[in-house]
Amino acid sequence: MSTPKFRIAICGGGVGGLTLALALSQYPDIVVDVYEAAQSFYEIGAGFGIWPRAFKVLRKLGHDFEQQLVQRCGYNFTEEYVPGIQHRKSDQPVGFHLFDMVTKGNQLRFHRADFHGVLLSNLPPSCKTHNAKRLKSYIQPDRSRKSPITLIFRDGSTATCDILIGADGVKSAVRPCMMRELAEGMDPDSKQSVLSCSNPIWSGVTAYRTLISAEKLRARCPDHRVFSGGFTQYLGKDAFFLGYPISLGKYINIAGFTLQSDLVNTAYEADARIPRRSFEGKADSDWVGELTAEQFVKPFKNFEKDAQVLLECVEKGTLWAVHTVKTLPSTNFGRVALLGDAAHAMLPFQGAGASQSIEDAYLLATVLGHKATTLDTVPRALAIYDKLRRPFSSDVALRSRLNGQLFAFQTDVPLHELGNTVTKNWEWAWLTELDGALEEAVRLVENSSINIS
Ligand SMILES: Cc1cc2nc3c(=O)[nH]c(=O)nc-3n(C[C@H](O)[C@H](O)[C@H](O)COP(=O)(O)OP(=O)(O)OC[C@H]3O[C@@H](n4cnc5c(N)ncnc54)[C@H](O)[C@@H]3O)c2cc1C
Repeated sequence: MSTPKFRIAICGGGVGGLTLALALSQYPDIVVDVYEAAQSFYEIGAGFGIWPRAFKVLRKLGHDFEQQLVQRCGYNFTEEYVPGIQHRKSDQPVGFHLFDMVTKGNQLRFHRADFHGVLLSNLPPSCKTHNAKRLKSYIQPDRSRKSPITLIFRDGSTATCDILIGADGVKSAVRPCMMRELAEGMDPDSKQSVLSCSNPIWSGVTAYRTLISAEKLRARCPDHRVFSGGFTQYLGKDAFFLGYPISLGKYINIAGFTLQSDLVNTAYEADARIPRRSFEGKADSDWVGELTAEQFVKPFKNFEKDAQVLLECVEKGTLWAVHTVKTLPSTNFGRVALLGDAAHAMLPFQGAGASQSIEDAYLLATVLGHKATTLDTVPRALAIYDKLRRPFSSDVALRSRLNGQLFAFQTDVPLHELGNTVTKNWEWAWLTELDGALEEAVRLVENSSINIS
C-alpha cells in the first residue's frame, strides 16, 4: 500500500469497535489497529437482539457478512409486520396476557459469542488486532496539528496513531481523558460539569443474566410459550424478566431486572454474599457477580407458573449492576472520538445499546473514509459524527429508561394503555433508518463551508 491516508487506533474490541474496524476495511487507504484489554476477544454467555434499523446498517457491510449472521440466528430477516414481543402481567399466582407488540421487520437474536465470532472472522488481515492492551490514557499534543497521538497502555508500552476512537465500553479510559481535554480553560462550574461525565453512574438497575438449556425446558414443558410465541416479557412491580430462544433454538436467553429508583446515581455497593465474577484469573469487576440458581430466581419468586417453569431451569447466572453514562457535552475532541457504550452507555430496556454502537461505527467510517476527509479535516469529520449521532443516541437512552419504568409498573400509564405507549416509544427501532443521517453526513463532509456548530 502507498502511504496511508491515516492510521486509526480503535481502543476496545467489543461490538462497536469491531464493527468500526470492519466498516473501515472498505477504505484501503486507512490503516486500522484494534487494541483490546482482554487476552482474547470474548463475549459473555448471553443473548442479544438487533432491531431492523441496526440490521439494515449491518447489511451494508456485505452480502456474505449478512448471510453469516442470519445463519447464526437460524431464521431470515423480514421487513413484513410480525408479532414481536408478548408481554404478560406476571407478578401474581395467575398471570395474564397484556399485549403483543407488533413490529415492522423482525428482531434478529444471537448468542453474543456467535455474533462476535462473525465480526472477527470478517476482519481483513490488514486490520491488526492487539490483545492484552488495556489503555491507561492518551496524549494528543495539539488537536489541530498533525503530530501523532500517543497511546499509553497499562503494561507500560505505548503506540501512536493519527486518530483515536474510544470504543472501550462503559468504563472507558478514553472518556475521562477526553473530558479533561474538553474542560481545559473552562470556568470552574462548566469544568466541574464536564468532568462529572467522566465516570459511569449506577442506575439502580440490577440485571440477572443466564442461558438455560432449551432441551431441559422442553422436557418439563414441551409447549412452553417461549417455544410457540418466542420473545416473552414477564412484567411485575419493580422487577421483570424476559426470555427468548437463541443459537438455533439450543438455548433460551433469560435476562431479569430489578429497578430501585431510590438508588439511581448512588455509589453501587456489591452484596458481599455474591462472589465477584472472575475472568482471566482476576475478579472481573465489582459490578459483576456470580449467582447461584437460588439467588437468580429470588426477585421473581412471586411470579406466575409460566414464569416459574422457565426459572426452574436456571442453573446459575451472573448479576450486573447496570451503570450508564451521562449525556456528554461532546463525543469528539480534536482527532479523538468515542463510540458505543463509552459515549452513551444506556439502560438495556430497548435492546438497543449494541445497535447504537453499530450505527455510530458505520457513520464514523462514512465520514472518515470519505475521500474529502484528510488529516487536516479530521476534527470537522468527527464533529459531523457528533452532531448527527449524539442527539439520536441520547434520545434512545431516554426512551430506554422510560421502557424500564413502564415494564416495572413505575408510571401512571394504565395497563390497558401500556401496549400502545411502549410501542410508540420503541417504534423508531423498526420504522426509521440511519440512511438520512448518512446522507447528511456526506453532504456536510463535501461542503466544508457549511457551519456545523
Ligand atoms: C442485560 C443487558 C442486555 C442487553 N441487551 C441488548 C440487546 O438485546 N441489544 C442491544 O443492542 N444491546 C443490548 N445491551 C447493550 C449492549 O450490551 C451494549 O450496549 C454493547 O455491548 C456496547 O458495545 P460496545 O462495543 O460499545 O462496548 P463493549 O461491548 O462493552 O466493548 C468494550 C470493549 O472494550 C474493551 N476495553 C474496556 N476497557 C478497555 C481499555 N481501557 N483498553 C482497551 N480495551 C478496553 C472491553 O474488554 C470490551 O471488549 C444489553 C445490555 C445489558 C446489560
